[in-house]
Amino acid sequence: MRPELLNPLFAEISVLKGVGNALSKPLDRLGLTKMVDLTFHLPTGWVERHRVSRLDHNDIGRTIIITLTPTDYRAGGSPRAPFRVWAVDAEGNGVSLVYFGKNSGWPRKLLPIGEPRVISGKLEAYGDQLQIIHPDHVGLPEEALQIPVMEPVYPLSEGITNARMRDLVGEALSRAPDMPEWIDASVLGSHGWKGWHDSLLSVHATPDNREARRRLAYDEIFSGQLALMLVRTASRQRRAEPIRPNGRLRDAVKLPFAPTGAQRRSVAEIDGDCAQNHPMLRLLQGDVGSGKTWVALMALLGAVESGMQGALLAPTEILARQHYETLRNMLSGVPINLAILTGRDKGKAREATLMGLADGSIDILVGTHAIFQEAVSYRHLGLVVIDEQHRFGVVQRMMLASKARLNPHMLVMTATPIPRTLTLTYYGDMEVSRLDEMPPGRQPIRTTVSSIDKLVEVVEGLGRHIAGGGQAYWVCPLVEESAVSDQAAAEARAEALRARFGDKVALVHGRMKGPEKDAAMARFASGEASVLVATTVIEVGVDVPNATLMIIEGADRFGLAQLHQLRGRVGRGDKASTCLLLWGVSGKGSLHDQKISETAKARLLIMKNSNDGFFIAEEDLRLRGAGDYLGTRQSGEQKFRLAGDADISDLIDMARDDARLLIERDGGLASARGQAARMCLYLFERDAAVGLLKGG
Ligand code: ADP
Ligand code: MG
Repeated sequence: MRPELLNPLFAEISVLKGVGNALSKPLDRLGLTKMVDLTFHLPTGWVERHRVSRLDHNDIGRTIIITLTPTDYRAGGSPRAPFRVWAVDAEGNGVSLVYFGKNSGWPRKLLPIGEPRVISGKLEAYGDQLQIIHPDHVGLPEEALQIPVMEPVYPLSEGITNARMRDLVGEALSRAPDMPEWIDASVLGSHGWKGWHDSLLSVHATPDNREARRRLAYDEIFSGQLALMLVRTASRQRRAEPIRPNGRLRDAVKLPFAPTGAQRRSVAEIDGDCAQNHPMLRLLQGDVGSGKTWVALMALLGAVESGMQGALLAPTEILARQHYETLRNMLSGVPINLAILTGRDKGKAREATLMGLADGSIDILVGTHAIFQEAVSYRHLGLVVIDEQHRFGVVQRMMLASKARLNPHMLVMTATPIPRTLTLTYYGDMEVSRLDEMPPGRQPIRTTVSSIDKLVEVVEGLGRHIAGGGQAYWVCPLVEESAVSDQAAAEARAEALRARFGDKVALVHGRMKGPEKDAAMARFASGEASVLVATTVIEVGVDVPNATLMIIEGADRFGLAQLHQLRGRVGRGDKASTCLLLWGVSGKGSLHDQKISETAKARLLIMKNSNDGFFIAEEDLRLRGAGDYLGTRQSGEQKFRLAGDADISDLIDMARDDARLLIERDGGLASARGQAARMCLYLFERDAAVGLLKGG
């Protein structure tokens, strides 16, 4: 075992006393498997409690500590309804203790009928009754004084209480060793930061200690920058076959348009990189509709002209098929063998494709991740293009996986214009080309904002639009944070629209099976369906130029980048397009109750006033940046657990310089500080980057 891994921080949580099967599920759900995960499971704030002896409506909104006796269980009628425990105080006043989730065994065990328990939780009104949702402590009456009046609050999951979480975190902290400093002394001094160990203890003891939090955020950003630089250095050292296009195939491509200056420039930049004998790692940023496909095609043809193969990797089946069709059309009359491979291709067809790749008769392969499975071997893969790649880790993993076999040049394309700081954060090891010029003749998209109250008028307008031969997207919102309810919302909307427009309405959502999804998309693409109701699965890459109306329901629930992406589905042809942003969700009570936050308003206004993806991205960062310290972090692609966007903006330049200086002085991370920095990489699971070091 590597010496670094002997550090107790890397021990599994399961070695702690009392962590058995019951806790493994909630811990898993929270992504906590090792001690280090617990130490980085930071409190989101404080709770302040009030000790009371009787239930009182005046305490509504406060967190109280009270002794109660459970008298009754009330299971929910429907599977989604919560489990309720009715409990009374010494005077017989009652309160309902509410537990969401499937497992009613847990509350039953915690709260046996007739046995007094001391309970802490936030008192709420439920009609004219009282309720406490998920009490944060439940214990024996004699334990009442053990419940602290001020307590850090941790993110939790069903099956684990805050108290238990605190204990576990405490255990992990007590095992966390102090370690040699990896931050440069001048950086540390300029912020007045304490060491890692001290900072960590501080954040857990006083959740609002901002500087201690920032120090930990810095560690994470620093480790990211260091990892990117190690990848970059390693890729510089690897050898790749230079690509030297001769124009034989590129010139044979006949298209009805002339490339934009930005497209030509990007191809020139790509050609420059690919002519080197180390692999290209370049990011092509271009707003939706900026013409990335043409650039990709030129790059792929360049590889083929030099006697090699090219591959285009798409994130989904739908997109792979669409790319395949697009390329096939662009390549009509060009002597080239194009093939597709996805997880759905099986049997003989798959065998034939694998053969063609191995013997080199296939020049360009389009597909999903299936194209990099073990069984797939290429005769001579020269270039890989990765489309819409938010999951940056995949690139790195592929680079590492390809270590032994092949070193293709790599082009990553993204339609999300990324602010400069985030480009450094996520793509700091790459060169960047920007398609900052739209093909001519595009009609700008007119964007309007209104509330879901206008639903009737919107449907009328949609009716006129399709009666005139137009097509439209209707995107449904995230209802709750679960795919199931997204799907339900989309299904309900589709049904309502079908009642009016019949089978002109198609539906796609993320939980549909591949063929089903493709069939719906195909109906829309062919014009057979006029309206495509969708959850955000259509977010990336679908191209239907005749669709000139985009309706986004619950637009206040989407992020700016996402709204911009969605809007980019229209305005693809030469006809004027409209995007309608509807805020609020129908069927969720009156709009009066659906408060729309200031930030959401600001977002919608930015959308209304700008079509410029790069501008929108900067604004997005600015709006999201604030208030992340004690709030809940966005999930999804975000790979940072400690650093918020604001930290990243503030600290990235410093972290980048810090990392660069270290690498320049000690590329092998062999010095004392280098060794310390390796530990920082391990803490943030950048093991792969350490693996690139000699003797790593
Ligand atoms: P992206 O992938 O960047 O969103 P696409 O490559 O799908 O954009 O291009 C969008 C549309 O613009 C396509 O229909 C494409 O044929 C067209 N297009 C691409 N480049 C040009 C150009 N230089 N002039 C006119 N139309 C173009
Ligand atoms: Mg595209």
